[in-house]
Formats: sequence, C-alpha cells, structure tokens
Amino acid sequence: MIQQSRSTFVITDPSEIVQALAGLKDVLVLAYERRGPDVSLVIEQVLGEVRCHACGALARVKERPRVTYIDLPVFGHPMRLTWRKHRMRCANSA
Ligand SMILES: [Zn+2]
Repeated sequence: MIQQSRSTFVITDPSEIVQALAGLKDVLVLAYERRGPDVSLVIEQVLGEVRCHACGALARVKERPRVTYIDLPVFGHPMRLTWRKHRMRCANSA
C-alpha cells in the first residue's frame, strides 16, 4: 500500500519496499535470512502466464534454482540478493 502526497510517500508492503530499494519490478520477497553478520534477501519474480515458444501451450515450472546476484550495501554491511529463478517447461508431452 502506498500513501502518497506529492513527493512524499510511505511504502508498507515488503515486496514494494524491495522494489523501491533495489530498483526491481514485480518481485515477491520470500525470506529475509540472517546468519551472524550475513544477511540475505530471497526474492522471486512474479510470474504471469508463460507459454511455450514452440507450441504455445501453457508452461509449467520445472525447477526453482537459487541464484545469488549482487551484494547490496545496507547499513554498512553487504546484503546478498538471492533470486529464486523459474525454469519452465512445456506442459505438452509431445
Ligand atoms: Zn511446447
């Protein structure tokens, strides 16, 4: 939810906060993980309808590998951004 008044606004939704911080669009925050000094933010892209490039059938998620992209400096400490990717496959058995 965004409360906006000209140039001032407040964001309260966790996914919208990350979108604003990291300049990413359409992401969901799955987890904030902290192990000692190591901080990691786990996100994934919001998936719309994905279709097979070859036959046009609806695609299904085959794998969701975690890929670490960047370390964002947050309050003097690096924060790992882990992206849960979607590997898709065609639902058409042919
Ligand atoms: Zn296909």
